[in-house]
Amino acid sequence: MLFQPINKNYHEFVIDRDKDRCINCKVCVRQCSYEAHYWDENRQKVMHDNSKCIGCHRCEALCPTAALTIRRNRSEFRPNANWRPVFLQNIYKQADTGGVLLAGMGSPVDIPVYWDRLLLDASQVTNPSIDPLREPMELRTFLGAKPDKVELGNDAEGKPVLKTKLAPQIKLDTPIMFAAMSFGAINFNLHRAMARAATELKTAYNTGEGGLHRSLFKYGQHTIVQVASGRFGVHRDYLNAGCGIEIKIGQGAKPGIGGHLPGEKINDKVSETRMIPIGSDAISPAPHHDIYSIEDLLQLIFALKEASEYKVPVSVKIAAVHNVAAIASGVVRAGADIITVDGMRGGTGAAPAMIRDNVGIPIELALASVDQRLRDEGIRHKASVVAAGGIRCSADVVKAIALGADAVYIGTATLLSVGCTLCGRCYTGKCPWGIATNDPRLSKRQNPDVASGKLVNLVQAWSHEIQEMLGGMGLNSIESLRGNRDKLRGVGLSETELDILGVKHAGR
Ligand code: SF4
Ligand code: SF4
Repeated sequence: MLFQPINKNYHEFVIDRDKDRCINCKVCVRQCSYEAHYWDENRQKVMHDNSKCIGCHRCEALCPTAALTIRRNRSEFRPNANWRPVFLQNIYKQADTGGVLLAGMGSPVDIPVYWDRLLLDASQVTNPSIDPLREPMELRTFLGAKPDKVELGNDAEGKPVLKTKLAPQIKLDTPIMFAAMSFGAINFNLHRAMARAATELKTAYNTGEGGLHRSLFKYGQHTIVQVASGRFGVHRDYLNAGCGIEIKIGQGAKPGIGGHLPGEKINDKVSETRMIPIGSDAISPAPHHDIYSIEDLLQLIFALKEASEYKVPVSVKIAAVHNVAAIASGVVRAGADIITVDGMRGGTGAAPAMIRDNVGIPIELALASVDQRLRDEGIRHKASVVAAGGIRCSADVVKAIALGADAVYIGTATLLSVGCTLCGRCYTGKCPWGIATNDPRLSKRQNPDVASGKLVNLVQAWSHEIQEMLGGMGLNSIESLRGNRDKLRGVGLSETELDILGVKHAGR
């Protein structure tokens, strides 16, 4: 009979403590929210329990004498191409707990990353490249429906004026926005940091489904407010506080299912913002209970436009699934001004691991097919397309825009820039880096001033790189790149993949 969980000793990580360096200062004891390090009274020294280490690297980063190294556990099962260690460990875990396996952040499974199979073009002799340090390079992006045609007239002095009434737009100085992450899933310090950074960068961040704390209303010109199935924190002032409204139908990391923020994360501020009692679980149902057809979605889009007096565009966010192009077409025909497509590698605070790793499709294929379908149907101009879920660097942004996106959301990269190490335990509420937690002891590890500075640095760096890549291609505006798939070539892709992506193979 086993007296401990089967996999207690099959832990993933090993803490390597250099005894000559360690000064027993207890920093690691205080920093580890999983209590992997502890003070041993009898031995009068710091010890550790490898089975509790989740590989967050917080202790390693903060140890003053660099005495710690976190390594993968070298213990290996007998190789078996079918029964890989992850399946064994999952079965041991579920045999012990009887529960659904939870996971945080984006899927780590080995699904092709098409960004890595796409290469960018560069000018050579003709159509010379442009030096962005010496010549203007336009990254400004407008999100919202564009008119079928524009009509020009003249004013009283004979100067040309635009007679067409334009639909409301979200103006961005760079095509990079901070993705939807709810207040509750991440803490207030991070929400404030995103609001400040988006304002300084003149871009936008998305509230996610947890509402908007009143103290952040002042950043509204750079805030997209979300309306999700739980309708947490949704009221008239909220709808009028932002520069855009987003209806969340699906999320790339967990298409087809709802969400659950445990009661422990609902503190006074989260409770006030979400308009639910302190300590109560926040359950987001899988569907919106008033949307069972495109006509129902049309009604909600109409209601939100009425409530916000047609002053801001309404976006609809869908997960990248098999028939995403047809869904996108219906969403645009229902009146959405922006459509956000979230790929399966997108992050999440918590999702069943089986859903996260097995449901949905990569954003690259989804984006290309959505853009093509909207073009084929002659309605591409009726909505902007935003790509999300798996954008890792500025080159991914450029490739996404060449595949048809107007702008992108970055979520995981946002969290990485403030210290996240992708330990994947966001659902525990014990994030050692003070991000996916509302524990006051942990969340104070994120200083909003420092965090917003890092977010600004990241987006500025990427924007510079985007300008360099555009210049290299002989383009002087992001507008000229959108859907310009001739600037892409594929490597190592099948005819079907190239066909869906709408790109030629390298060498052609
Ligand atoms: S933080 Fe480093 S020096 Fe301090 S007790 Fe831990 S391992 Fe030793
Ligand atoms: S946010 Fe925190 S808990 Fe989640 S993956 Fe990053 S470091 Fe880990």
